[in-house]
Amino acid sequence: MTNPSAYLWRQDTLKQATQGQWHHADGAKICASRIVTDTRQIQAGDVFLAIKGERFDAHDFIQSAHQQGASAAIVERIVDCDMPQLLVADTKLALGDLGRFRREAHPDLTVVALTGSSGKTTTKEMIGSILGQIAPTLMTRGNLNNDLGVPMMLLELTDEHRFAVLELGANHLGEIAYTASMVRPDVALILNIGTAHLGEFGGRANIARAKSEIYSALTNQGVAILPFSDEFYPELLNEASQFTELQLSFGERTVPIEQAGLELADQTMLEAEGVSSVLMMGDLFADDIETFATHSTFSLNTNIDIDQIDSLPVHLPFIGEHNVANALAAAAATFALGVPLEQIVTGLERATPPKGRLTRLSVDGHSVIDDTYNANPTSMLVAAKVLEAELGTKILVLGDIFELGDAADDEHAKLGHQLALLEIDHVLTLGNHMAHTTAAINEQKPIAKHYTDKPSLLNDLRQLLSGGSVTMLFKGSRGMAMESLIADLTASN
Ligand code: ATP
Ligand code: UDP
Ligand code: MG
Repeated sequence: MTNPSAYLWRQDTLKQATQGQWHHADGAKICASRIVTDTRQIQAGDVFLAIKGERFDAHDFIQSAHQQGASAAIVERIVDCDMPQLLVADTKLALGDLGRFRREAHPDLTVVALTGSSGKTTTKEMIGSILGQIAPTLMTRGNLNNDLGVPMMLLELTDEHRFAVLELGANHLGEIAYTASMVRPDVALILNIGTAHLGEFGGRANIARAKSEIYSALTNQGVAILPFSDEFYPELLNEASQFTELQLSFGERTVPIEQAGLELADQTMLEAEGVSSVLMMGDLFADDIETFATHSTFSLNTNIDIDQIDSLPVHLPFIGEHNVANALAAAAATFALGVPLEQIVTGLERATPPKGRLTRLSVDGHSVIDDTYNANPTSMLVAAKVLEAELGTKILVLGDIFELGDAADDEHAKLGHQLALLEIDHVLTLGNHMAHTTAAINEQKPIAKHYTDKPSLLNDLRQLLSGGSVTMLFKGSRGMAMESLIADLTASN
């Protein structure tokens, strides 16, 4: 059913947005609420935008789109089909133009854009939960965060929306500059600089540069939100400062005493006492952090007014300390918009974790932590620490981390060395690169076993479960589909 407040595209607006040329369109009357890129989703009246992908060239499906009731197509070459076709130079860029056009039609919309190596979707849910209390909020669905997904989300804007919270992902330099320029954020947030997609970027400094592109498209009076505890904070601050003076930081960092901005007398006195570094707090920071099996608690503090720290207790229904960092980031982004601290806390306490990100279930008396949505080296270690904090027997089931390029084997071995320091009873690994993780763990203690197929792993896992109640955590890159192990385990019990 069409949303009554949905925007309706017509010939002239489609042409105006894309600068394309209409063909076979004499006498046609286009009035479409949806622009779709997949024939499998077409409904009568839709405009079909044909994209050339890795497997298919959607120009081959235009006849089929026509038969299914599409009212027009946006194409890179005119095809032999008697339906209105809007010819553009590049349909992917045309999709971006359409998204940009829709954003520009809502100058009063308040947009929060966020990026980072880990935690984007989780933090987006938290921000959406806070802003959704105030007014209708459009939020990135699923993981539509790339150069195609972001404009697709903008096409869903309606007159009802007062806020939009959009996740921007980066596979390469320039991608966020492109998506951010169509999003035009009022608040631009970087969560962290990790090692996701290290392969494509060739180094963390480049990842930091790619993410900081989000600041380049801020609106006038736009606010940059910075991760104070991140190693790359100084670089990000430098980038942000080129675009806005309005900045808020979250978290805390230890800095060498000479960089702490102290009065010289204070610095000299501390140095005389042998102090070489100090802990500094960002504009928003957490303390009294406690993590439990199902939630975390902390105090949310603001440090804006030097004479007064505002502080409120938070009961966060997410597990793991990294989610306290995500909650702080969400608090900073909404605080920048003037949302009162009390309302921020209520929103955080009502947020729900997206599926497959450290979600907990019970299987035949055992505890399962499902973190199978995706993995990178940082999030693997974070998840392992969540498991370590559990009581009783702990089993870590890990699949390969993808997209690490030439660094893959080294990164997997490094992860193994880090895992070996944790108190975990068994580690079962799957894939190609994970053999290096297993070897590195076993160098220090013989608790890991590597598998190349899921049935053998499952077999051994079932044996381990027969010895009494355990907690298992499953994680791997998306392509490893580690959730199928949980499904098999559930089905056989
Ligand atoms: P993607 O790039 O795949 O869209 P994302 O950035 O949206 O990922 P989420 O889906 O929110 O991230 O979380 C994915 C996983 O990353 C979580 O299950 C958790 O293991 C880990 N994670 C989440 N937040 C953080 C954080 N702040 N620091 C480190 N790891 C995190
Ligand atoms: N597509 C389609 N109908 C189909 C199969 C594909 O419309 O039956 C579209 C798909 O939505 C995408 C384009 O064709 O926009 C290219 O598909 P491909 O799978 O190659 O895309 P990829 O995701 O690999 O880039
Ligand atoms: Mg995501």
